[in-house]
This record gives sequence, structure tokens and C-alpha cells, in this order.
Amino acid sequence: KPPIKKLKPEPKPPAYIHQTVYVPVHRTTEVQNARLRLPILAEEQQVMETINENPIVIVAGETGSGKTTQLPQFLYEAGYAQHKMIGVTEPRRVAAIAMSKRVAHEMNLPENEVSYLIRFEGNVTPATRIKFMTDGVLLKEIETDFLLSKYSVIILDEAHERSVYTDILVGLLSRIVPLRHKRGQPLKLIIMSATLRVSDFTENTRLFKIPPPLLKVEARQFPVTIHFQKRTPDDYVAEAYRKTLKIHNKLPEGGILIFVTGQQEVNQLVRKLRRTFPYHAPTKDVPKNGKESEEEKEDTIDDTASTVEDPKELEFDMKRVIRNIRKSKKKFLAQMALPKINLDDYKLPGDDTEADMHEQPDEYDEQEGLEEDNDDELGLEGESEMGSGQRQPLWVLPLYSLLSSEKQNRIFLPVPDGCRLCVVSTNVAETSLTIPHIKYVVDCGRQKTRLYDKLTGVSAFVVTYTSKASADQRAGRAGRISAGHCYRLYSSAVYNDCFEDFSQPDIQKKPVEDLMLQMRCMGIDRVVHFPFPSPPDQVQLQAAERRLIVLGALEDVKTEKTDLPPAVTRLGHVISRFPVAPRFGKMLALSHQQDLLPYTVCLVAALSVQEVLIETGVQRNEDVAPGANRFHRKRQSWAASGNYQLLGDPMVLLRAVGAAEYAGSQGRLPEFCATNGLRQKAMSEVRKLRVQLTNEINLNVSDVELGVDPELKPPTDAQARFLRQILLAGMGDRVARKVPLADIADKEERRRLKYAYNCADMEEPAFLHVSSVLRQKAPEWVIYQEAYELQNGDSTKMFIRGITAIEPEWLLLYVPLLCNIREVREDPAPRFDKTSGKIFCHVDATFGKSGWELPLGEV
Ligand code: ADP
Ligand code: MG
Repeated sequence: KPPIKKLKPEPKPPAYIHQTVYVPVHRTTEVQNARLRLPILAEEQQVMETINENPIVIVAGETGSGKTTQLPQFLYEAGYAQHKMIGVTEPRRVAAIAMSKRVAHEMNLPENEVSYLIRFEGNVTPATRIKFMTDGVLLKEIETDFLLSKYSVIILDEAHERSVYTDILVGLLSRIVPLRHKRGQPLKLIIMSATLRVSDFTENTRLFKIPPPLLKVEARQFPVTIHFQKRTPDDYVAEAYRKTLKIHNKLPEGGILIFVTGQQEVNQLVRKLRRTFPYHAPTKDVPKNGKESEEEKEDTIDDTASTVEDPKELEFDMKRVIRNIRKSKKKFLAQMALPKINLDDYKLPGDDTEADMHEQPDEYDEQEGLEEDNDDELGLEGESEMGSGQRQPLWVLPLYSLLSSEKQNRIFLPVPDGCRLCVVSTNVAETSLTIPHIKYVVDCGRQKTRLYDKLTGVSAFVVTYTSKASADQRAGRAGRISAGHCYRLYSSAVYNDCFEDFSQPDIQKKPVEDLMLQMRCMGIDRVVHFPFPSPPDQVQLQAAERRLIVLGALEDVKTEKTDLPPAVTRLGHVISRFPVAPRFGKMLALSHQQDLLPYTVCLVAALSVQEVLIETGVQRNEDVAPGANRFHRKRQSWAASGNYQLLGDPMVLLRAVGAAEYAGSQGRLPEFCATNGLRQKAMSEVRKLRVQLTNEINLNVSDVELGVDPELKPPTDAQARFLRQILLAGMGDRVARKVPLADIADKEERRRLKYAYNCADMEEPAFLHVSSVLRQKAPEWVIYQEAYELQNGDSTKMFIRGITAIEPEWLLLYVPLLCNIREVREDPAPRFDKTSGKIFCHVDATFGKSGWELPLGEV
């Protein structure tokens, strides 16, 4: 190790620092030289003066300008870490670890002084002066120390990512900073962001009465030439491979950075590239590229465990659980991916498989392979080419958030002699980490995001186009060292028409029920009054609170202190651990009995995919006779009798999933879907969601999951009855009761209202949709999955869909908050239940504000 060369033997404080508080840092010459090249160094004086004079400052600067690594150092030197800590939050765990290590290195300080803390991992000690952490960690700390009394400065980094936690932290800190000021212990807040839309922070007067000063750090950026594709291929991983090959074979030196969407794709591409360009290390000391079979295997296992890219705390938890389970139940876990389908159970009535075994359609020839290699495509006429014969070795490295920090760090290590650096990354490399020496960027234009269905609230990871802002950030990565090139694997038309300018803040994408419960579980009580940088709708927040109370996730506080917000119940805490809307979370929470979990997972998955069943002949907006739907009879036979029939439309979905699995195993899925009126694409979405939910539940709920029966037979009649109750427990606010026809004298009116239902919280009656298998039976009490209104000429008509019959006496048990108990009966006599230790008595009660009489029930 070379001796540390002290750059400033007698350091002189910069002018803005008072002599007394200057804390010298002894950096190596090498580090100091690297620092001097960073744009933010030129602004040090101005940045620090602004921070000294203002409690809250916003710093916006080009990625790579040195914000994250340098600002904490400026603050340290100015004495901010003398008595209290400097805290820096990152939305990504990767960044928290990498940045703490880098800053410790640059400052020549041990890791117990410049440390990081992410959930379950960290190296923070009492000696820590600068602490990097995930935004979730700081939020947790606020729960126990609201004034953040250990900190003198909080830096919220990467605020432009608009992660839910960072948004909430901005809101909280906007209040904490003045509080600390009042107490004479000022806290500085610095919001740092890439140069993207910062007006949400600066122009929001609810958040900051006086807009905080905005400092812009100009970065030296070399021009980047953008190359669009003529077409936008679906298989962007293959296309990225092809493009990388061309760049490597034909273009002058310079690192290549490839953006794909997730860990699996990263590993897939890295493997493929390493196979094509094997690297043979000249000495034993250099790690062998391309021969990391052990490591690769490990990465691959992580792959199946979680496709999650976003480094929320939860996933770390999952990773640990995965590891534990993997140790003991390796084989079992593999089986658990999906419950096995017992094929014969799902043979449908009248479904004779042997008779017509169809062959699958021929696959199309891959057009890509036929296309001629076209050099102009790289847009580099005039630039010198490398002879295509002399292949330089390619040094291929993966980068994603769940990669261990040592492996992540390899992107910063020197590339072996004569190699070209090639990093395959998720959007981690978009703004959080700046990889040195990149000249070529290959951008697939997609990202993996968690999308929430507005109606059902189930979240699923989907691959979508990024925003224009993201695409431009990615391109910018190519212009750090010299003029660069960005190859976009999509057409300019797609960029113009399909890319939004900015992606929406996470907080506005998520359903508020979910968010509300999450915030409440974090200890943020007054969600309604919370100063969000971009607030969700207030009415929606209040309605969400009410729904959570009805669900039993929040305490019902009709009692005493009305100014106290309702507390989170134990059930609420359990529900918040499931990655689905609270109503589905509750259904899952209740399903750990009677082996119901696989069915509930199946239902939640099927209910959250739109339009699984095709309704040929019957448009959604027509109310015509059942016969018009040629699949109707078939579906009725799937839910033919007993509790199957009463489970209604969800039973059809359950059958459809099982039977599609069966048909799929026989290679007959397309034909099966066609003859039974199922949307094939929807069926495969359902399957994906089932896999995802099964995995997440198995991994999150540590105590119960391993007892789940891995075979999914159709439910027994008793189980189907339980499923009806479970559906009610989640859908308690969607109860409807048949309009009593006996009271109606007029014959025409009776006809009109034949399928009419009163819904608990709607004025007008709604009509049982013609697609429902329960339409013939039209039970008196039902729950529905969806109610919707349709324009019909100049009037509107309301329909309900997804019908399940319920027993009215269940309402007292499953939706007690919507019941009004009028009288407790002495007769029949109250009963003491030994197992629960409760006394049950009979009551007279009504349901909902509609005041429906309930049969004598027990509570
Ligand atoms: P910003 O936060 O403005 O995006 P950073 O402070 O993260 O910028 O990065 C400043 C510079 O430090 C970049 O050029 C980056 O490549 C470099 N850098 C960051 N971490 C390391 C590291 N571990 N090794 C070498 N260089 C690094
Ligand atoms: Mg940064």
C-alpha cells in the first residue's frame, strides 16, 4: 500500500468557514485530483454559503457531478459532523452502501466513521459521523425520534426518483426543520436531485411556505449522439446482445453500458456475452471473468426468489427468509412455485381430451436473423473502425440492486489490461451510480415497474416504456468522458408517442388505501393533513380510511377522543405485509385455515386481471338474455351445484384457471381458450400473478406457508363455502340485496326490476349483469366485485359483476362495523364458547345505512 500523501499538510479553511469549526480532511493526491475534476467542486463556496444561511436548500445537478460523494464532505469540513451526524438517504440500497464506501475512501476515514445502514445490515457505530441509509431506515428512525436529534444535517438524495418514502420524508422534514429551529438546535435539510422537474418541491407552498433556494450544479457534458432503431423489437434482450456485439466488434474503445429491466435479464445477457467473449485472465490474481459458475449459480437462485428490482426494505427481508428456507427446504421451495394441478380433477364436463389432440401452430421464423448487417446502423461513418478480426476481450459485469456490494463495486475497479468494459445494468445505473469510462449506451427503453390496478389494487410487476426524462438520463451516461453514442432499441416514433415526459411520482400511482395503511403502520397518523410534495386526492384519503376501518385494519373510533386518528389493529399490521390491496390482503390473511390459501391466491390473481372471460355476443353495455352468450351455459356447468354454484362467478374463474392449466399441460391452451371463451393472454397473466403471489406469500409469511398443500384440487364443497365467507370478509362494503318484487304492484315495473339489486351505499338499484352465472338463481344477498355505470341513451344504468351469494347471518360476523345491533336477546339463552372464552348471544340487527333487517344472528 503506498503511503498516504497528504495534499494539504497545513490545510487552510475556505473563506466561508469560521476558523474555529474547520475540520481538516487528509485526502490522497489521487483522490484529490479526481475530486477536482468534479463540477460541484467549482461551486463549493456558493453551495456552502447557501447552506449556512438557509435551513432548507435544494441542490439539482447533472448525474455524476459529484453531489452524493462531495456534499457530505463539504459539510464535514465545515464542522457539521462535530457534535451530531450528517445523515444521507438513498432510495436504493445499492447507492447507500456504494456511496458510504466511496466517501470513506475519499476522506481517508474508517468505515465506522463513514457508515451505512440499510435494513438488517450496516456498519454504523457510535463513532459514525456520516451515515448513508435508505429512506425507509430514516422513516423508521422518525418513529422513535421524531426530531431526529442525532443529526445536524439530513440530505435526501435522489429526490427526483419520487420514491414513496422519500416523498413522505420531504413532507415530514418540512415540519421537523422549523421545530428544531424553535428548540435552538437547528437542523439543515438538503434535497438533492438530478436536473429533473424540481418544481414539485420549490413551488409547493403547502410544503414550504418560503420556497427554499435552488442551487444548480452545471456539469461538463460531452455531446451524445442518439441512434434510434427503425423498428421496436419485442425481444429487446436479444437485440441488446446483437447491438453490443456490433459495437464491440466495430467501434473504437470506450465502455459499453446496457440498460435492461431486471435482474434476470441482466444475468441472461451477461452469461451470453461472457460466452461469446470469454476472458482468460493472464495471472491467477485477477478474478476470472466468465468462469464464475459458483457465483452465477447464486445469482440465478436469487433470480427465481425475487424478480423485484426496486430495493424496498421488504425485499431484503425476503432475501433473508429465502436464504433460510433455501437451507432447509431447498427442494420444497422449488415445488412451491405453483401448486401442482391434479390434471384429472380439472377435466371439465364434456371435455374429451383424447379425441382431438391438436398440434401447436408452427413458430414463425425469426425475421431478425435474416436481416443484413448494416454498418450505418451504428451511425459511425467516418470514425475509425477496429479490424473485425482482432477481437478485444470484453470485461462483462452485471449490476442490479440485489447484487452483493463487493460485486457491485467491481464496476469501479480497473478493467484488466486490453479489455473493454461492458456493464449490464438495471436502472440502478441511470442516476444513482455513475460508472466510469462509459462511451456507448445501449438502452432497451423499458423498465420494470410495479403497477397497481385502480379497481382491485393488486400490484404486479410489468415492463413498461420508461419516460423521456429517463431515456435522456440514460443517454447522458455516455457523455461523461468524451463524446458518446446512445443506441436506443426503439424507434423515434415510439419515443415520441409512447414515452411520457416524466414518470409519475410513486405516491400518485399507488392506491391510497394501501398507502394509508402503510403510512399508519409506520406511525404517520394524520395522513389526511400530511404535506405531500404531490398529494393524493384528499377525498380519496378519507374514503380509504373509512374502508380500512370497515375492513378491520384500523380501529373504529366512534368512541371518546375523536381527534385521535384510528389506530392500526393487529389485523392491519398483518394485512400490510401482503403485496396486494388491503381487501385482498385480508382475504389472504383469513385463508390460513382449511388449506384455503392456494384458492384465495388463485382468486386474487384471477380477479385482478381484467376481462379474463370473453363475452362474445354480449357486450358489457347490453342487458340481453343469457342465451346470447354462447359460453354462458358452459360456465354455468362449471359452477353447477351446492357451494360451487353459490360461489358464483369467482368459481368460474377458479375452474378456468385450473382447466387452463390442464389444457396447457396438453399443449391445447389456445384451442381451449377459444372454445371456452377465455382470453389467452389474460390466462397467462393470471398464471404469472399466481406465481408471484405464491412466492411472495410463502416468503413473507414465515409461519404458515410451509404447510400449504402443493396440489390444487378443486375445492371441496365445504371449502367453497369458506371461500364465500372469505370473499365477504374482503368485500364487506360491496353487499347488495335483491329488490323485493312482491311489494311492486305494477307488472311492467316488476319485469323491469327482475334482476335489480339495492347496494348498501348507492341510491339507485343496480342490475345483475347478464354474464353472471348466478343470474338465473338471483340469490337474495350477494357481494359483487365491481359496480359500474353505463350511459344508455340519456339515462344511465348501473350494473354489478362478479357475483357471489352470501348468507345474511354472516354479515354480523364478517362486517360487524356495518351492522347496527338493536337488541340483545335473552332467548335463546347466551352460550359460552370454551375455546374462545367468549359469550355468544343472539341479536336483532340491521345492515348498512339501508337498514336491512338481518335474521336473528349470533355475536
Ligand atoms: P452525483 O451524485 O452528482 O450523481 P456522484 O457523487 O455519485 O455524483 O459521483 C461523482 C463521481 O464519483 C462520478 O464520476 C463517479 O464515477 C465517481 N465515483 C463514485 N463512486 C466511485 C467509486 N466507488 N470508485 C470510483 N469512482 C467513483
Ligand atoms: Mg448521486
